[in-house]
Amino acid sequence: MSMDVTPRAARPDREQLAEWAATLEGKPVEQILQWAAEQYAPRISLACGFGMEGCVLIDVVARLSLPIDLFTLDTGLLFPETYALWSQLEAKYGLTIRAVRPERTVEQQAVVEGPALWTVDPDRCCELRKMQPLRQTLAPVDAWVSAVRRDQTPDRADLPVVGWDGRYGLVKVNPLVTWTSEDVRAYLKTRDVPYNPLHDRGYPSIGCAPCTTPVAPGEDPRSGRWRGREKKECGLHLRPRTA
Ligand code: SF4
Repeated sequence: MSMDVTPRAARPDREQLAEWAATLEGKPVEQILQWAAEQYAPRISLACGFGMEGCVLIDVVARLSLPIDLFTLDTGLLFPETYALWSQLEAKYGLTIRAVRPERTVEQQAVVEGPALWTVDPDRCCELRKMQPLRQTLAPVDAWVSAVRRDQTPDRADLPVVGWDGRYGLVKVNPLVTWTSEDVRAYLKTRDVPYNPLHDRGYPSIGCAPCTTPVAPGEDPRSGRWRGREKKECGLHLRPRTA
């Protein structure tokens, strides 16, 4: 989907956002995404990270033929299973999930920043391979859709269904905030939606291959991300403290 370059729509005021969030709280994902498309298409994008939740959203967008731009941040370092799932979803639903790539390939980055930057400075690596491309992709749109759930991290615990994303300066729609991981699995099973086979091999949360390890029973689901480091978020969904 091509993006126009007209200025962004005016920011909805706090009362408007609160009213939308209250109205849509607990509503079916179909209703929330339908609302979002009616409100913001064609200037609305959905970020798919190919987690189970993202697969749910792709299924809904495809079933309802919603005019929402779909993209993924292709760092060049995803698991082979993730790249296979990407193709599988596009084939099953007959849609395109746009690749948003960093300015440099992994090899070019190694020349400029040093090899395996993720082992030395993962924050810089995420900034170059995820954050910068995401900012560029979101710049021309008025709203984006994420697949986050409230119970994934403390920072996400009070996320509204619709809110202002102060980090990127646009509206953020979170249709699955009230869902649990069991809800997600049940949806995928009921609707026979493809998902990453790594989820059944001890990877509840999947990011780039060099920064993702399996999780033992009883461990925090995100403990396999950047294992051994305090870092547990690439930063995409962190909220500025002043937002
Ligand atoms: S998750 Fe790891 S490899 Fe991927 S961009 Fe971040 S630091 Fe780099």
